[in-house]
Amino acid sequence: MGDPVIGVYLWEPGGRQCPDFDPRHARFVAQSLDDLRSALFTWGVPLFEVESEALAFFEKACSVWGTYRVFSHQEVGNAWSFHRDVYLKGWFHDHGIDWIEWAEPGWERGLKHRLGWDQRWGQAMRQPVFACAQRAPASTWDWASHWAGGEDRPECARGAAPNFQQGGTTRALTQLDYFLANSVGSYRAHLSKPMESRDSCSRMSPYLAWGNLSLRWAFQRALTELESGQNKAGIRAWASRLHWQSHFVQKFESESRMEFEDLNRGFSSLGRAHRPDRFEAFVQGQTGYPLVDASVRCLSSTGYLNFRMRAMLVSFATHWLRLPWQSVAPVMARWFLDYLPGIHYPQLQMQSGTTGINALRVYNPIKQALDHDPQARFVQLWVPELANLPPELGLQPWTILPMEELFYGFRKGKDYPEPVVDFRSGIAFSAEWHAARKSPQVLAENRRILARHTTPDRSVNRRSRTVLKDPRQANPQHPEGV
Ligand SMILES: Cc1cc2nc3c(=O)[nH]c(=O)nc-3n(C[C@H](O)[C@H](O)[C@H](O)COP(=O)(O)OP(=O)(O)OC[C@H]3O[C@@H](n4cnc5c(N)ncnc54)[C@H](O)[C@@H]3O)c2cc1C
Repeated sequence: MGDPVIGVYLWEPGGRQCPDFDPRHARFVAQSLDDLRSALFTWGVPLFEVESEALAFFEKACSVWGTYRVFSHQEVGNAWSFHRDVYLKGWFHDHGIDWIEWAEPGWERGLKHRLGWDQRWGQAMRQPVFACAQRAPASTWDWASHWAGGEDRPECARGAAPNFQQGGTTRALTQLDYFLANSVGSYRAHLSKPMESRDSCSRMSPYLAWGNLSLRWAFQRALTELESGQNKAGIRAWASRLHWQSHFVQKFESESRMEFEDLNRGFSSLGRAHRPDRFEAFVQGQTGYPLVDASVRCLSSTGYLNFRMRAMLVSFATHWLRLPWQSVAPVMARWFLDYLPGIHYPQLQMQSGTTGINALRVYNPIKQALDHDPQARFVQLWVPELANLPPELGLQPWTILPMEELFYGFRKGKDYPEPVVDFRSGIAFSAEWHAARKSPQVLAENRRILARHTTPDRSVNRRSRTVLKDPRQANPQHPEGV
C-alpha cells in the first residue's frame, strides 16, 4: 500500500489579476472540477478546492502535514505562471519537498531545435493512455479541521453559463463521440464557415486547453476511427490539426517572450500604434464591417469562433486598423473559452505578420463574407441591425441607396456605423510589410527562427508531407505551410 493521495485545485488570486483572465475560464474550470471530483471519488481520492496563492498554500501545508510530495502536470502557461513555477521550484528544493511534474505528450521542455521532433511526437501519441490500476489508500485526513477556511471557490467561478460549452471530461467524451458519429463527414467543407463550423468542427478546443482530455486520447481515437474506413479524409484533416496544436505549443514553450514581443524583432518598426477609437470600435463590434462585427459579438458572447474568422479578426485589427497585436491579445484571450497561451500568441503573431517566415495573409472581410456567409445568416444573427436587409446589402450596407434606405427602414451610419477605415488600408499595409520583409534584420531573424522552430531539413519535411496518407505516419502536413 502506498501513501494516501488527495487532489487539490488552487484558485490563485494572482492568476485572476492577469489581463488574459476571464470569468468564463473560471466557470469552465469549476464545471471540470465537479466532473473530476466524481471520477476521483471512484479511485478513493478526495478533491479539494482552495483559494490561495500557491506559495502560501504550500507553506501552510508544511506546517499542517510536515512532509509531502507534490504531483502536477507540466504547464505551458503565461509569464505569470512561469515565474510562479520558477519560484516554487526553488522553494520546494530548499524545503526538501519532491515536486514530480508529468510531461504533457506533444511538446518538450527546454528544446533548442526541431530535429526529430515530428518523429518523437508520433511516438508519444502512440504510447498507451494511462489507466488507473488500483484505488488509492483511504485518506484518514480530516480536511475541515486542519484547513481553517475550508474549501473555497471564488465567486466568479460560480453560476450558470448557458451560452458557453460546459466543462468536464464526461462532456468532452460525449462531444467527441458526437463529432465522429455525425459531423466529421462535413468537417472539411464547413471548417471555414462561421455558422456551419459551430456544428461541424469538433469543438474539442476548450477540453484540450483546460486538460479535460489529453491530446493523446483524442489522437488515438482518430486512429481507431480511421480503422472503421468511413470519412477518412475528414479524420485525417482533423488529426493533423491535433499535430498543429502541439507544434504551436512547442513554439511558445521554446520562445515564450512572444507573449510580449514580436517573434521576428525586425518587424518592430512597422507602422502600428494603439488608437483608442479604433480599438473601441473593434472590441464593441462596431467597425462597420458586418462579418468582423458579427465575429466579435459572437466570440465575446459564446467564447467560440472558427479558425478562419479568428485569423480574419487578427488581420483586420493589425492590418486594417493597424493596431499592434499586443493591443488585441489580452481581450481576445479573454474572449476565447479555449484560451491556450501556447496557441494564442504564436497564432496572433503569425496572422499579424510578425514571424517573418510565414506569408502575409491580409484577409478581406468583404470577400470572406461573400465566400463563407453568402446568405448573411451569421451576420444577421449577430448584427440584428442588419437583419431586415437583403443578404447582399446586409454584407455591404454602405452600398445601400437612399431609396433602399427608405424601403428597408434602415439609416446608413445611424442604425449601423459606416466603415471605420477604408478597405484600401489593408492593401497599403501589405505593401509596407513586403518592403520591410527584405530588411537585413528581418532576414537574419528569419534564419534564427527557422533554425529554432522548424524541421532543419525542410526538403525532407516537404517530401514526407506530400506522401502522407495517414496520421499514423510520422509527419502530418505542416501547420504553417512552410
Ligand atoms: C488568433 C488565433 C488564436 C487562437 N487561439 C487559440 C487558443 O487560444 N486555443 C486553441 O485551442 N486554439 C486557438 N486557435 C486555433 C483554432 O482556431 C482553434 O483551435 C479551433 O478553431 C478550435 O475549434 P475546434 O476545437 O472545433 O477545432 P477542430 O478544427 O475540430 O480541431 C481540433 C483541435 O485541433 C487543434 N487545432 C485546430 N486548429 C488549430 C490551429 N490552427 N492551430 C493550432 N491548433 C489547432 C485544437 O486543439 C482543436 O481543438 C487560435 C487561432 C487563431 C487564428
